[in-house]
Order: sequence, then C-alpha cells, then structure tokens
Amino acid sequence: MSRTFLVFAESRDGKLRQVAFETLSAARASAEAGDQVLALVVGSGASSIAGELAAYGADSIYTIEHSDLNQYNPEGYFAAVKKAIDETKPDAVLFGHTAIGRDLAPLVAASLQAGQISDVTAISRSGSDVVFTRPLYAGKAFEKRSFTSSPWVVTVRPNNIQAPAPDSGRTASVTALTYPAPSLRTIIKEVVKKTTGKIDLSEAKIIVSGGRGVKSADGFKPLEELADVLNGAVGASRGACDAGYCDYSLQIGQTGKVVTPEVYIACGISGAIQHVAGMSQSRIIIAINKDPEAPIFKIADYGIVGDLFEVVPLLTAEFRQV
Ligand code: FAD
Repeated sequence: MSRTFLVFAESRDGKLRQVAFETLSAARASAEAGDQVLALVVGSGASSIAGELAAYGADSIYTIEHSDLNQYNPEGYFAAVKKAIDETKPDAVLFGHTAIGRDLAPLVAASLQAGQISDVTAISRSGSDVVFTRPLYAGKAFEKRSFTSSPWVVTVRPNNIQAPAPDSGRTASVTALTYPAPSLRTIIKEVVKKTTGKIDLSEAKIIVSGGRGVKSADGFKPLEELADVLNGAVGASRGACDAGYCDYSLQIGQTGKVVTPEVYIACGISGAIQHVAGMSQSRIIIAINKDPEAPIFKIADYGIVGDLFEVVPLLTAEFRQV
C-alpha cells in the first residue's frame, strides 16, 4: 500500500530555504517506489515559489497564504500544517531542524499522537525499516532509531542530507488550501534584523570563525574578507563574543548555534569543548592557530600552525584567483 509523506517546506522572505530541499530529500530517502511525497509552503508568496519544489521531488504541493502567516507564530503555523494534514492524511510529516521546525514538530507530533525523531543527520534502510541517525552528546555518539508505528514526525538537521539535483522536467499539482484563521495568542510587534544581507550561519556551506586570537573587532576584517571570497559566513567563539569583538548572534557552541557546514575554518580558536559542541559535525575542519598544542588541532582535518593575520590574507588572495 502506498504511503504519503508531507514535507513542511520552510521559506523566508518569499524564498524557499535550502533546508526545504534537504527535507524533501529526506522524505524521498524514507519513501519507497509508489509512495507520494507532498510539500506544504505557507506564508506570503507561497504560491509563487511552490512550483520550484516539483523539480526537487515533490509529487503534489499545497500552499496556504494569509497575512497571519507572514511571520512565524506557533498557533497560525500549526493550524496551517494541521489543515494540510487533515487534507492529505500523511503517514509521516517532516520538518527542517530549524527554529521553526523545532517549535512546530512537537506540536504536530502531539496532535497526531505520533512518535518523533529529532535532528536527523542521515537516513538508511534495514529491511523494511527506515533507520534515522541522530547525533548525541554534541556528536560524541550517534543513535540509530526506527519507528514502530505511523504516523511519525521527523526533523532534519540542515546541511546534512544532500538536496536532490533539480529535474526541471518534473511537474506537480499545486493546490491552495484555506487558512483556518485561529485566534493568535501572541503577535509580533517588531522584527529587528542583525544580520541583514548576510548568509545564515545555520545554512552556510562555509564558515570562517574567529576566536579570542583575532584580538579586536577590527581583527575580524580579514576573516570577513575570506568569508566573502568563499561565499561563506562569519562565526565566532564565545571567547570572541565575550571580549566584545563581535555580536553574540555569531556565537557557535554549546550555548550558541550548532552548525554543520561543509567547511569550518577556525581562526585563533583554542578548541574548548563548549565550542567544539557546536561545530564538530562540520564535514571538513581547518584550524589556524599559532599554538601547535591547541586542542582544536585534535579534531581538525587540516591544521595550519601560524599567525592568523598572516595566514588568512594569504588564503584570501589565493582563493581570489580561483
Ligand atoms: P581562547 O581559549 O583564549 O583561545 C584563543 C586561541 O587563539 C588560542 O589557542 C591561541 O593560541 C590562539 N591565537 C592567539 N593569537 C593568535 C594568532 N595571532 N594567530 C593564530 N592563533 C592565535 N565557548 C564557545 O565558543 N561557544 C559556546 O557556546 C560556549 N559555551 C560555554 C558554556 C559554558 C557553560 C561555559 C563554562 C563555557 C562556554 N564557552 C563557550 C567558553 C569556552 O569554554 C571557551 O572559554 C571559549 O570557547 C574560548 O574561546 P577562544 O577559543 O576564542 O579563546
């Protein structure tokens, strides 16, 4: 019997987020031939971006637009997802493991009395079971879990499950659903953006991160230049944030953001366990530190022992030529 997988395709500022395509990929990896992968896009402009999901593997697409959904709020978004669930009766619902996905998924799981596996980084099969891998203890261990019943709910960590290559020949039906318009318990008064125009740290493929070794706010400039050349984002250790060299929104680690880029370049960061907790799952770690004994070298794939103020500009100049 064919099953139905519903993907919450997250968008921001009228654009689908990379994690939306990765979540579609996760649904495809969980599905078998004959299963249906559906996608839901909500918020302003949903209908104009929804069609893009067909090329990435959606069989049918649902949209819900309403002014209540222009910014995230739990009641409105939950009502929208519930509407799509009532309409499509899915066997599984998948979200990105983002601020929105982490908030919405448990609401949906509770309403469906479904099991939930969060922060999935890989999907495999064992016979007819779909096996979800998730990191534990900040990546020091992994757990493999399967569901014993459906429906089920999963959140997928950004930057881990590769988005499918788009197939422009694929088509999918797009259906607009009516927003149930529940009463909202909170409203947004103002959104203050601190990272306008920059790449979101949680979605960046390359992160150039600075620690106390950058020595000042100006010391971040060479890192910003390298990040620009590589089309990456700038991150930081708490040491750098505490010293006032950069904003706390850049902090990576146990009490900051957890990031999983393809390349993480740690500049002047010692590699304290609390920092490593936020970046150890990066695919390739490059450390630049003048102390050859710095713990960061223990987890680095490539290490450069040297002064970051010499090494980083050299790298920038080199990558500029590529
Ligand atoms: P340092 O440890 O001072 O290291 C600076 C490094 O720069 C040194 O290795 C030095 O050799 C190198 N260096 C200096 N000059 C140069 C140069 N010119 N070129 C190259 N290298 C140079 N930390 C986080 O990062 N994220 C967290 O989320 C976090 N959460 C925490 C939660 C708790 C409860 C606690 C107790 C701590 C937390 N910390 C966190 C702090 C953490 O323990 C470290 O203090 C912090 O990560 C150190 O930052 P750092 O590596 O930049 O600084």
